[in-house]
Amino acid sequence: MLSVSGINTYYGPSQALFGVDLNLQAGELVALMGRNGMGKTTSIRSIFGLTPARAGRIEFAGQDITRMAPHRIARLGLGLVPEGRRCFTNLTVRENLLATARPGDWTLSRVEEVFPRLAERRHQLALTLSGGEQQMLAIGRALMTNPRLLVLDEATEGLAPVIRQEIWRAIAILKDAGLSILLVDKTLRELLPRADRCIILEKGKTVWTGEPKELSEEIKNRYLGV
Ligand code: ATP
Repeated sequence: MLSVSGINTYYGPSQALFGVDLNLQAGELVALMGRNGMGKTTSIRSIFGLTPARAGRIEFAGQDITRMAPHRIARLGLGLVPEGRRCFTNLTVRENLLATARPGDWTLSRVEEVFPRLAERRHQLALTLSGGEQQMLAIGRALMTNPRLLVLDEATEGLAPVIRQEIWRAIAILKDAGLSILLVDKTLRELLPRADRCIILEKGKTVWTGEPKELSEEIKNRYLGV
């Protein structure tokens, strides 16, 4: 479904990615891992055309999207939950969800079923939500676009433990529903049991790919600082 091969990406003159390879099959949950500053967010930005790759190739569902405009990439069925969980703070929860709606199985009622808190707070301004609720809303907004692939950058970063559990429960529901998911998160204890495959980045390069059970203590130590 998604194939990233050998991408190099720059911020102005400064190179951040030096040959990232990343593949994801339909229905898979792939964990994109690596220490801070190793290129996870930049890889995601390249996939979405926000910081386009200068070399290499990115294909989604058989189409070359390497240099496609972000709005066209999104329309092909890529949904992003960015780091920092952006939503329209001056709109209500429900307005936020409806603002991104596109036809498909993910409807308002289905999203509210996955996140009952969003249903309870449907008439509140997004501004008044807690950080965790805003993350749920950000995921809900991405779901409302009816993506074929959902990409979450720092899914549970900075959230209270009870909210983290709710997000992980929701991710499990999405996976069971057959959604393909690319996920960045630092809590390996939660991430590894749910991932079908892991991809590790080190200094802007893919250095390891495999199933979570193949991830040895030595690899964890070397690349993840665990
Ligand atoms: P984190 O877990 O801290 O979010 P990350 O793995 O997502 O890290 P990136 O944010 O992709 O890493 O950063 C990769 C490299 O690109 C780092 O060296 C970083 O300093 C650099 N970088 C990121 N954003 C910018 C920017 N806007 N301008 C210049 N350099 C940047």
